[in-house]
Amino acid sequence: MTTAKKILVTGGAGFLGSHLCERLLGDGHAVWCMDDFSTGLEKNIAHFQALPGFRLLRHDVTQPLDVEVDEIYNLACPASPVHYQADPLRTLRTSVIGAMNLLELARKCGAFILQASTSEVYGDPSVHPQPESYWGNVNPIGVRACYDEGKRCAETLFFDYRRQHGVRTKVVRLFNTYGPRMRPDDGRVVSNFIVQALSGADLTVYGAGAQTRSFCYVDDLVEALVRTMATPDEVAGPINLGNPDEFTILELAQKVLAQTGSSARISHHTLPGDDPRQRQPDIALARQLLGGWEPRIDLDAGLRKTIAYFRAEGTG
Ligand code: NAD
Ligand code: UDP
Repeated sequence: MTTAKKILVTGGAGFLGSHLCERLLGDGHAVWCMDDFSTGLEKNIAHFQALPGFRLLRHDVTQPLDVEVDEIYNLACPASPVHYQADPLRTLRTSVIGAMNLLELARKCGAFILQASTSEVYGDPSVHPQPESYWGNVNPIGVRACYDEGKRCAETLFFDYRRQHGVRTKVVRLFNTYGPRMRPDDGRVVSNFIVQALSGADLTVYGAGAQTRSFCYVDDLVEALVRTMATPDEVAGPINLGNPDEFTILELAQKVLAQTGSSARISHHTLPGDDPRQRQPDIALARQLLGGWEPRIDLDAGLRKTIAYFRAEGTG
């Protein structure tokens, strides 16, 4: 039996955050979901909002916050390239000032704090697959830098608060994760392709589609987040979390077409700036530290669940 804790989830009304809140509530914890609803949605939290353990805080993470909690998961940040590039200065403020505010909060109440970092810290990687020891290849002045460098700076803050103030920090680097509750207009590849296939619109493959990603289903990722928080104090990370099965974007498009039975076509579009050419997590460390954790839902199974969600939502 787990001891009930008070847990703050920032970005809790977003795609990943809402699944995490739901899981933590199911485990019997009191959950404070903090969100400014910039990309998060009310409907993501609607079905558990009335539970007694749930509290919603409409708050921008760039403003200081004063609550007493045992654990903090920091997920507040736009994650889709379309969203994080729409207001790059806001993205930087959210990552950097948001991290500082929450680290101060963790310092004050002695809470454990976990940072949702990203595979983007590896940029366009020259080491493949990417182990945590790889320092990355990020363009610091490109269009993705507001996100990549913001997240890199947040990692620095987490390690400096640990060294300088003894804050109980944990950093995880999430690789592309997908599933129900992604916004239909999110702009990321899995939701774009599913929405396009269901509506009969062309699937918009950027470039030739030879670039690769490794896609993790949301339930596997949430399990890994919870297990990371439960690791002993000295486990600071960074830990890669994701599914190492790697696919080209063209393969993904073909899978979505096959599973939806759509007669939509594939059309090719300009590749966005600094788009990483390959990405696959080395998850040896996660396997070792997270008590036998392993991604269990492969891409075919995860796509089935995600397509069923978008169909039920009437998307397309
Ligand atoms: P999302 O856009 O669905 O969720 C982000 C949430 O943060 C939204 O609810 C949004 O409203 C909220 N938010 C943004 N700025 C805020 C602010 N200033 N104050 C308060 N709330 C704010 O994206 P997601 O995929 O659920 O990503 C969640 C986290 O995981 C992000 O930090 C992201 O960088 C990280 N991540 C996600 C992936 C992935 O593939 N899904 C991969 C790597 C890292
Ligand atoms: N992509 C694509 N078509 C789309 C959206 C994305 O071909 O409609 C490509 C994008 O160029 C990238 C990959 O799919 O190579 C993953 O993009 P996404 O925005 O989902 O996440 P990223 O890993 O780039 O942050």
